[in-house]
Amino acid sequence: MSHKFARETGSQIRHRLIDQAAALDDVISLGRGDPDLDTPRHIVEAARDAMRRESALEMPPPEGLFELRQAIAAKLRRDNGIEADPEREVLVATGGQEALFLLIQALIDPGDEVLMPDPRYTSYDGAIALAGGVVVPVPTHPEDDFDLCPEEVEARITPRSKALLLVTPANPTSAVISPARIRRLAEIAQEHNLLVISDEIYEQFVYDDAQHLSIASLPGMKERTITLNGVSKAYAMTGWRVGYLAGPAPLIAATRRLKIAASLGTSVVSQWAALAALAGPQDCIAEFRAIYEERRQVMMAGLDEMGFVYGRPKGAFYVFPDASSVGLDADDLCRLLLEKARVLIFPGTAFGESGGRYLRITFLAPKEQLQTALERMKQTLAEIR
Ligand code: PMP
Repeated sequence: MSHKFARETGSQIRHRLIDQAAALDDVISLGRGDPDLDTPRHIVEAARDAMRRESALEMPPPEGLFELRQAIAAKLRRDNGIEADPEREVLVATGGQEALFLLIQALIDPGDEVLMPDPRYTSYDGAIALAGGVVVPVPTHPEDDFDLCPEEVEARITPRSKALLLVTPANPTSAVISPARIRRLAEIAQEHNLLVISDEIYEQFVYDDAQHLSIASLPGMKERTITLNGVSKAYAMTGWRVGYLAGPAPLIAATRRLKIAASLGTSVVSQWAALAALAGPQDCIAEFRAIYEERRQVMMAGLDEMGFVYGRPKGAFYVFPDASSVGLDADDLCRLLLEKARVLIFPGTAFGESGGRYLRITFLAPKEQLQTALERMKQTLAEIR
């Protein structure tokens, strides 16, 4: 039967591989993008405290607990140089995923075009398709570490262009858009009257000399930017399901109406945990970053040994190597790596049409496991080459 979700082939591929992996023993998963580290103790304790309070059982406001929205506003000022009024310009959602879905439904009308760097996080495609909008992919390339080229964006602007979506650091390419390019993209958005959606969920994990710049902090951009973020990645809190939006009040009001329709509100216990994360000690982030950085070095060394061509991951915790650089088709290689090496990796096909040549590998496993996985991959490649 044909239905409006029929085109989501990327996630179907992912799920097929996950199902296959579940039926095998001793699989090392370098597929999913959820941090494998533990949520810091003080955050878990805050949730326990919340459960002991009777008010934890009351229905929260749809836009999120005021205390949490205040903590989000303080975080945006502290880390991002963004001023947001916690009363009118912030909305809490059940993960960045709900936040992006509500935002797109509130923002996009049929025929509206959304420009986005490609390869891309295709959850946005699903949300945009449902709203009747059109994804306009802007190609990025491994040779320049998948950085987004402002001229490539400008070349694709039409009278139907409504918004520019930036995911920086990016999933699946781990690209970090350089501050100079962010500034240029801000000018383009103003010149062509585009809204900007800035997904900054990986902001805390940048490496080498890469720098994260929030586009909403630039002059004239707050009015036209919606910043999306959450606690899943920075604080290893995927299962707690808290994300948020900050942006112009009318848009936040529209997402609030949708939030009521979708779920009335986000779990209060999780919201208190998110508050502890954002307002509490931040050392855990530096600790996580150091762990990811060490794994990233192991990953790059392993891929170099196997002869893969890849964009240097400047952020997040993904690598996006070109499967054709070792002479193989990405889908076939993922299947072989699962069957022979017992390593679960997703093909780039799950991340947009142009992703087909690539593999998305995560470094979300302990260093020793990562080394074992790379060793097994090396053997399998030697056998099949
Ligand atoms: N944005 C991007 C770019 C992501 O990669 C993800 C999760 N993989 C999300 C948003 C949503 O994350 P969550 O719902 O856990 O906050």
